Amino acid sequence: MLADNLREVQKNIEKACEKSHRNSEEVTLIAVSKTKPVEILQEAYDAGARFFGENKVQEITAKYPELPKDIHWHMIGHLQRNKIKYIIDKVDMIHSVDSLRLAEAIEHEAAKHDLVMPILLEVNVAEEDTKFGLKMDEVVPLLEKISDFSHIQVEGLMTIAPFVDDPEENRQVFRDLKQLSVDIGKKNINNINMRVLSMGMTGDYQVAVEEGATMVRVGTGIFGARNYAV
Ligand SMILES: *Cc1c(COP(=O)(O)O)cnc(C)c1O
Repeated sequence: MLADNLREVQKNIEKACEKSHRNSEEVTLIAVSKTKPVEILQEAYDAGARFFGENKVQEITAKYPELPKDIHWHMIGHLQRNKIKYIIDKVDMIHSVDSLRLAEAIEHEAAKHDLVMPILLEVNVAEEDTKFGLKMDEVVPLLEKISDFSHIQVEGLMTIAPFVDDPEENRQVFRDLKQLSVDIGKKNINNINMRVLSMGMTGDYQVAVEEGATMVRVGTGIFGARNYAV
């Protein structure tokens, strides 16, 4: 049952926090609801979930009007510049910013709506060819440019770790991202905050929490397997 899954994930987060001497209130669980219908999201909401992650603009715009208004929507997937306008006033955070052009387009749409958009920079820590995201050494140069933007607030970093059998294999990836965020924090770049580390998915969120994640994005572990055929 979904409510049981949700509780189980929450309990695992608490355990990982205890193990690493962290306060579990520092960690936000984002229920990744992509491909799932609104009835299922409502079920998760009724079980207590308030943060939902989606990776497609069309899914956010379709689900948004059907569900309670106190849901915090997080855009976690690759975002095309021409689609920002559909979600700019609906999402609490965009996790997947990986280029100056995308940041500029977000700045432009946010200005139109007179809002400040919280974003994370997506880092391809393991430098996998198949993944989006900045290389580690591209992060600071981009931050220095975004620092001038008045309608974007950088809140931290995000990574999608490699798909592995043993989550321990990703521990170093999470450590590297945490270290990068600490190093950036010390630079005190204007308008750049490093309070969020969005890392860890169903297969490895406990390890990610042990290494400092403040947001974990869990889909399958809450909603079960996804069926992309429907
Ligand atoms: C789908 C997705 C997740 C959740 O993946 P699970 O393995 O189902 O937990 C997390 N982050 C991103 C960016 C995703 O696209």
